[in-house]
Amino acid sequence: MSDAFQPPPLPANEPVFDYAPGSPERVSLQRRLAEMWGEEIEMPLVIGGEDVRTGRTVPIVAPHDTHHRLGTAHWAGPAELDRAVEAARAAWPEWSSLPWTERAAVFLRAAELLSGPWRDTLNAATMLGQSKTAHQAEIDSAAELCDFWRFNVAYAARLYQEQPISSPGTWNRMEYRPLEGFVLAITPFNFTSIAGNLPSAPALMGCTVVWKPSESAALSAHYLMRLWQEAGLPAGVINLVHGPGAELAPVALAQPEFSGLHFTGSTAVFRGLWSQVGENLGRYRNFPRLVGETGGKDFIVAHASADPDALLAAIVRGSFEYQGQKCSAASRVFVPDSLWARLRDRLAEEVAAIPMGDVADFRNFMGAVINRSAFERHAEAIGEARTRSGHRVLVGGGTDDQRGWFVQPTVVVTEDPTSRLLREELFGPIVTVMAYPEREYEATLDLIDRSVPYGLTGAVFAHDRAAIRAAFERLRYAAGNFYINDKPTGAVVGQQPFGGARASGTDDKAGSMWNLARWVAPRAIKETFVPPRDYRYPFMA
Ligand code: NAD
Repeated sequence: MSDAFQPPPLPANEPVFDYAPGSPERVSLQRRLAEMWGEEIEMPLVIGGEDVRTGRTVPIVAPHDTHHRLGTAHWAGPAELDRAVEAARAAWPEWSSLPWTERAAVFLRAAELLSGPWRDTLNAATMLGQSKTAHQAEIDSAAELCDFWRFNVAYAARLYQEQPISSPGTWNRMEYRPLEGFVLAITPFNFTSIAGNLPSAPALMGCTVVWKPSESAALSAHYLMRLWQEAGLPAGVINLVHGPGAELAPVALAQPEFSGLHFTGSTAVFRGLWSQVGENLGRYRNFPRLVGETGGKDFIVAHASADPDALLAAIVRGSFEYQGQKCSAASRVFVPDSLWARLRDRLAEEVAAIPMGDVADFRNFMGAVINRSAFERHAEAIGEARTRSGHRVLVGGGTDDQRGWFVQPTVVVTEDPTSRLLREELFGPIVTVMAYPEREYEATLDLIDRSVPYGLTGAVFAHDRAAIRAAFERLRYAAGNFYINDKPTGAVVGQQPFGGARASGTDDKAGSMWNLARWVAPRAIKETFVPPRDYRYPFMA
């Protein structure tokens, strides 16, 4: 082991391929898509480095073609969850005492493999299993995930260099101990990069992990695990258990060694998990770290001075990319009535023309929504917009589940500032617009701030600096990621650390030093070179 401090490679954002016609990356991805479409694979649990088949299996289908089976996932029960905790415990002594450079090298190698030979596989799995277009998969399962792994290594190095001062005759030091016990990572369906980041961030800091991915993202989770194995992740450091969260999480949360929860998903689920932790608090050896990034009701607010073209592009991209299933997606838009009168028809025209369908057909901008319960939730919201007074469906509103779970990109217009559609997270391709009287800009900012419990992302469009300033001040807690003349989605690791407060989570900023700091229990060490030998102080003379 070397004594030198060895700075890791300087991270840079992974380049994003455009998959334009004729490009070699397009040919290669299409080939892999076709191959994986033709396969039907088994997705076992991976516990202590071993594949575990439970026989309790569920079919995994493509959301845009629900008759097509991509494979079968094995679901864990309480016994397998216990085994996963045991495997994490067994791996802890060695992993937690490795030099940090050894752990970092595993994830840097994973990033390199993902950037190269594994790129098509992870992108194709995300496209087929989660119905992302090539572009949406590329910015998620390739680019963002490479960024998480590379930037986290650099942030870890920065954290380790954070050291106290020493007064004469002493040496003070900080050691960043991995949390004792195991971390439970519970991940959502909508980003493969988040599924890859939540278990790996604590693992990079020396923790061992039990990872429960979303039931609706089993295919990409399966390949992620295989990628870590190829990168050289030792057995038991991350243990993959598929299955229903409501059944498995309580088993993990009842263990005395439970030391942290790394969660992304809905607010209600995180609140439920937090309560369970509270109930179990007396059992734990440590006060567990609870990190959760949760729901949002993200806004775009336009001032009368806004550029209408930029606003229109931001509404379309911000609301409908990945079928609006981004935690950051715009779902409530506030436009001054004067500007709305000029924008409305153009918006309706653009949205009506958005191509939607099979994501393997690269002409499509949108695929299907993730599962039947999402489909039904969206259909219900659209039904409400059609029937409730003060609401109108401007464009879209169609739903079709014949082949897959398709929901048309939908713009609802309402005059009712208390509308449910302006307050609740729908997590789909539905955006609700309210045209406000131009003179009431500041009152509208207050409405945006107070009418929802969330605080995740938001954007202001304005040319007028005073209007930008007013939004910046009045919406200070309305968004943890605030955009000026840009859409509220598309945060990039290293550039816009992501996360929100209020009901949107603990705001620990995924892919940042603040997040990594949650997975260590620092130890302060003071060494006195020549200690005093008499207890009496001079003032006592
Ligand atoms: P979800 O809450 O339904 O599921 C998330 C995870 O929790 C899944 O693995 C699921 O199996 C598990 N789970 C569900 N019920 C559980 C229970 N009772 N106990 C324990 N675990 C349980 O969320 P989703 O549909 O996968 O993702 C969409 C949600 O995630 C949205 O609310 C979105 O805003 C949020 N999200 C937030 C961010 C962010 O950074 N703030 C990022 C992505 C997604």
